[in-house]
This record gives sequence, C-alpha cells and structure tokens, in this order.
Amino acid sequence: MPENPLIPDIAQRFDLDEAITMPENPKTRLEEVAGMVCDMPEVDQAAGSCSVCMESFGKSEEIARRVSCGHVYHHNCITNWLLNGNGDSCPLCRREISGRSMI
Ligand SMILES: [Zn+2]
Ligand SMILES: [Zn+2]
Repeated sequence: MPENPLIPDIAQRFDLDEAITMPENPKTRLEEVAGMVCDMPEVDQAAGSCSVCMESFGKSEEIARRVSCGHVYHHNCITNWLLNGNGDSCPLCRREISGRSMI
C-alpha cells in the first residue's frame, strides 16, 4: 500500500499558532444551546401559539419543544432566543430553562 501523498501536505499547512490559541473549552454557546434544545421534549400537537414568533403551532411544520417550565416554543424560536443573550430563561415566565423536563 503506497502512503497517501496528501497527508504530509495537510500537516504542513496546519497552522500551529491557531492551534495554540484555541480556547480551552471548545464547546461553543451554539453547541450548548443546541444540546439543551434537543433535550427538550417534542410536542406533537401543540396548542396555541409560540410566544416568540406569535405563529400558531398548527401552521408550521417546525418542531415544537416544551421547556422545563411547561411553556412551548418552536425549536428554532427557542434556540434563537437562548442564543440572543437571554441567558437560560423562558421568554414568558423567565424561569430558568434546562433541557430536562420537570413535569
Ligand atoms: Zn415560534
Ligand atoms: Zn416558562
């Protein structure tokens, strides 16, 4: 088996300085939020409307997620809400959100 000639090439192009300045914790806020939202239970037939975008759940194909306080939002809406510097709080009741359901 001949060695893959691409491997040394890639190694040379690898920027060592960039590697050194990598943050110690490479987990980004985006990954943290995505993980948290994915842990929220899906709501198949959500009633009412999402308080972030004001759309009723029946209209959209988007997944509805129930946050730990019991409020329901679209998957993307709650993701964006959490990413927009709102901390881990529910848009409606401001209770702390966790991925785990308390119900
Ligand atoms: Zn929404
Ligand atoms: Zn809430």
